[in-house]
Amino acid sequence: MSTLPALPALPSIVNDARAQRYGLTVAQLRDLETQHAGRCALCRETARLYVDHSHATGDVRGLLCCRCNSGLGLFRDNADTLTAAAKYVTRPEQPYESIRSHTNDLSGEG
Ligand SMILES: [Zn+2]
Repeated sequence: MSTLPALPALPSIVNDARAQRYGLTVAQLRDLETQHAGRCALCRETARLYVDHSHATGDVRGLLCCRCNSGLGLFRDNADTLTAAAKYVTRPEQPYESIRSHTNDLSGEG
């Protein structure tokens, strides 16, 4: 019988097939799930979690909610692009002429 701690009332991600898919044992995957306490490693929302792994190495990086896991994939796991996106969404709002001038600089047009 298992003596593992109880988890939040969310569906567990743990099953034999999932553990095997990522090269973990069920106990390791259960431990990871317990460490995350049912929260996404990025947004910290309580949600159903998915195993996030590096597509380059196959290594498991953590557990993410569907939106964060999909987001990383949409950004092709590119840290530079993700950093640029973070700066983009946190920059002060700019008047149209300022944005237009900036995009002209990028395209080489004047
Ligand atoms: Zn998330």
